[in-house]
Amino acid sequence: MYIMGTLLRHGSAEQKRTYLPKIAAGELRLQAFAVTEPNAGSDTTKLQTTAVRQGDRYVVNGQKIFISRVLQSDLMLLLARTTPLAEVSRKTDGLSVFLVDIRNAKGLEVRPLRMMMNHSTNALFFDNLEIPADSLVGQEGRGFHYILDGMNAERILVASDSIGDGKWFVEKAVVYGNQRVIFGRPIGANQGVQFAIAKAHMAVEAAELMRNKAAALFDAGEPCGPEANMAKYLAAEAAWEAGNACIDCHGGYGYAEEYDVERKFREARLYRTAPINQNLVLAYVGEHVLGMPRSY
Ligand SMILES: Cc1cc2nc3c(=O)[nH]c(=O)nc-3n(C[C@H](O)[C@H](O)[C@H](O)COP(=O)(O)OP(=O)(O)OC[C@H]3O[C@@H](n4cnc5c(N)ncnc54)[C@H](O)[C@@H]3O)c2cc1C
Repeated sequence: MYIMGTLLRHGSAEQKRTYLPKIAAGELRLQAFAVTEPNAGSDTTKLQTTAVRQGDRYVVNGQKIFISRVLQSDLMLLLARTTPLAEVSRKTDGLSVFLVDIRNAKGLEVRPLRMMMNHSTNALFFDNLEIPADSLVGQEGRGFHYILDGMNAERILVASDSIGDGKWFVEKAVVYGNQRVIFGRPIGANQGVQFAIAKAHMAVEAAELMRNKAAALFDAGEPCGPEANMAKYLAAEAAWEAGNACIDCHGGYGYAEEYDVERKFREARLYRTAPINQNLVLAYVGEHVLGMPRSY
């Protein structure tokens, strides 16, 4: 959903006519969004992948890392530098978004990465990949601003994912805490077990309120950067707290594969790091919401 937003908001009428009906019909899959690079990470504007205009095409060279769902996609959104950093007045300028057809693309190598959870993500290598000039979405050099629009949607979506994880942990812990009898009574009767689950439940509920606020603003077309970021942060923290309470409640069984708790714990961990790490959300709130000095 959040990847499509860039095409919906900034794509040309021709791009929308060509791709959207097929995507809606399930004939084409657009699920990959290539931003992160080995040498840029959270500092997106330092990305080094270049797209150089040559006649009716762009030639792409560079490298991306952790690009998800490429093997499940026909199309990919790509953020690349079209004007060198040294030649732009603001570092957020000179980046462009392309809608790349990756079926049989020559000059693109996709290397799957093994991660700590079941998440299909890849390293990408671009070696003179040629794409038609009309792959450009919107204006050349405005790509960073276009993807920022989509990031709020992604944060609201990711917050919802974490809220689901948090609820799952709380439910699982409550069931187990009520069933498991040790020292002659259910372990959930112990405040040391019960209070941790109650606290996690409250954190998940509070995150859900912030997520709802962010989603309502987004749907109304209102600015929602602070709320989307805060929802992502609070939800990831709540899921983490709930995951720990759930593992603690399950004792040794929390680590046993057949209980699924350890798997969900590994999955829920991701959203403290991606799509934006918690520290950068704190820096955003400190600087942009509270008006404090920039820390980086
Ligand atoms: C499973 C998975 C899927 C992903 N899918 C995609 C995808 O589809 N497309 C895509 O483009 N990217 C994707 N990513 C990349 C993800 O967005 C990045 O990993 C994330 O933005 C952090 O970048 P980095 O890993 O380079 O960390 P770095 O930028 O190297 O940061 C490392 C750590 O340093 C700390 N840090 C850095 N800067 C600061 C600062 N200024 N202040 C305080 N602390 C700081 C943070 O704690 C951070 O976690 C994915 C990542 C994972 C793990």
